[in-house]
Amino acid sequence: MGRIEKYFKLNLNSATKQTSGGSCGCGNASGGCSSQVNEPTPVKTSCGCGSTSGSCSSHSTPEISDAEFDAAVDASIGEERKKDGFDQVFDVKMDRRTAFRQLTASLLVGAGAVSSSCSVISDDESKEKAQIDWEEQFKGNYKLMTNDEKQGTVDRLMRSYELRKGEAINMSSTNAEKDVLFGYAFNISKCQGYMDCVNACVEENNQDRNSEMQYIRIHEMKDGQGFNFNEADDNYYHEVPAEGHFYMGTQCFHCDNPPCVDVCPVQATWREDDGLVVIDYDWCVGCRYCMAACPYDGRRFNWSTPEVPEEEVNKNQHYLGNRMRKKGVMEKCTFCVQRSRAGKNPACVDACPTGARIFGNLLDPDSTIRWVLENKKVFRLKEDLGTEPKFWYFMD
Ligand code: SF4
Ligand code: SF4
Repeated sequence: MGRIEKYFKLNLNSATKQTSGGSCGCGNASGGCSSQVNEPTPVKTSCGCGSTSGSCSSHSTPEISDAEFDAAVDASIGEERKKDGFDQVFDVKMDRRTAFRQLTASLLVGAGAVSSSCSVISDDESKEKAQIDWEEQFKGNYKLMTNDEKQGTVDRLMRSYELRKGEAINMSSTNAEKDVLFGYAFNISKCQGYMDCVNACVEENNQDRNSEMQYIRIHEMKDGQGFNFNEADDNYYHEVPAEGHFYMGTQCFHCDNPPCVDVCPVQATWREDDGLVVIDYDWCVGCRYCMAACPYDGRRFNWSTPEVPEEEVNKNQHYLGNRMRKKGVMEKCTFCVQRSRAGKNPACVDACPTGARIFGNLLDPDSTIRWVLENKKVFRLKEDLGTEPKFWYFMD
């Protein structure tokens, strides 16, 4: 039985994202506020007071010395600057002028949230949004956060979504469990190339519906030519399984020795104790070093803000997994951290109609993944590199 199961573009009918007036703190959603622009440059209209007359003292950009600039940064993020790569971000990403502009804009957003004398037309929700933006802007790297801090940012993000979309989401910050090490096995003889896994992954992980960026690739290969990725077709549009071909899936392999982690200049990606290689989307600077370093094509760069129709948003999220990302950061398979750390299979495993995908705890001697590793002739890709992927292939 052949069938075509390919993840085609959805007809979103909503490709244009609405710009919310909430972030400026003015509370005016009618369009009357001229601060509703993307760039923070127009300082004179972004303070949230609603006045452009110049009577508000925020409406001019003060000249400050280096010492005053440093003091302002220290006052905003304090110790974080020293311990988690802040300097690298600022040194690499922007010159002082740009950094100052962004800092000033943030200060003014904060001012809109906390200053009663300068927010006469702001309503409570606008102030709350601005306060959340302010705190999110200056939070630290998730990797360095205490559990309370993790819960804090997750709470803010859930509240922010509710304020902006009027919908509740459930976001978790569940940590790795003791005595758990996740592993994955792929049965090449069973895969028929249907791509149900790809569809499920896109939907589970709130991936962009416009760009067709997908974490999984299914490679169609010719029988008798070995695993020839150069000749493989991973963008086929025909009935499957095709005569004389076999299929092989790739995604992030969650290496024990991941080169993508080593090259990140700001430590925005790391390996967790349960073996998941994760990304803090809010700490990623989009340099794409990790993408270049990955020998398995496991990482994806999002060139545009992921667009998902509201009714299709998966509201069961994890901070390190399928929460909504901004544009210009890296994404990849997380072994569905929002599911795997809740004791479920990744979405691709459950979606596969042929049972080609096996997932589980490598440290559990009774798990199916252990049975596969102990009873099948398994192999991994590019073993000689020493990356130690936790993703094995086998055949019946
Ligand atoms: Fe990193 Fe690539 Fe290994 Fe995934 S497969 S952990 S992205 S090196
Ligand atoms: Fe996608 Fe999750 Fe499967 Fe990874 S484990 S490929 S994130 S569905």
